[in-house]
Amino acid sequence: MDFAPYIRDIEDFPTPGVVFKDITPLLKDPSAFQKAADALLGLVGNTKIDKVVGVDSRGFIFAPMLAEKLGAGFVTVRKSRKLPYKTISQSYDLEYGTGTLEIHTDAIEKGEKVLVHDDVLATGGTAQAVCKLVEKLGGEVVQCNFLIELTFLNGAEKIKGYRKEALLQF
Ligand code: IMP
Repeated sequence: MDFAPYIRDIEDFPTPGVVFKDITPLLKDPSAFQKAADALLGLVGNTKIDKVVGVDSRGFIFAPMLAEKLGAGFVTVRKSRKLPYKTISQSYDLEYGTGTLEIHTDAIEKGEKVLVHDDVLATGGTAQAVCKLVEKLGGEVVQCNFLIELTFLNGAEKIKGYRKEALLQF
């Protein structure tokens, strides 16, 4: 199935000059939604996955579906001060300034195999920070998996040590 027609370009969002890829047309279509989840699962290799990490907030849409299908646990990486228990944090560069992502200290056990999922790979700063958090806890990132990769932003460069898969590339 070609998912590209279900992705909508929103100009000047969230700031002037940015063309935002809006995935909501895909999510609201029952067949496209289901098929996208299946296709994302198809990108995962044969390695047994212990945890699927979803990235705040649109990573939370498909990551739990992947976890359920893989027989893995679901872990959230969240923006700062959203998680209630003990956390470790990782800063990353945003277009203007820096952001911070956090994970619970008990979310991943040493040696666990981890699949990282987010909706969009743009500059790669977010995914790189997530991989660092997983590794700080002793997890092994088996794959970074995205609905969309914006290839012109070269995010793949930032996570080049990891296997990267994306359903769609623009
Ligand atoms: P990066 O750190 O520059 O790779 O940005 C990736 C993060 O920003 C992801 O968590 C995405 O949800 C979000 N993001 C960046 N660009 C877009 C977009 O065009 N559509 C939807 N989300 C985006």
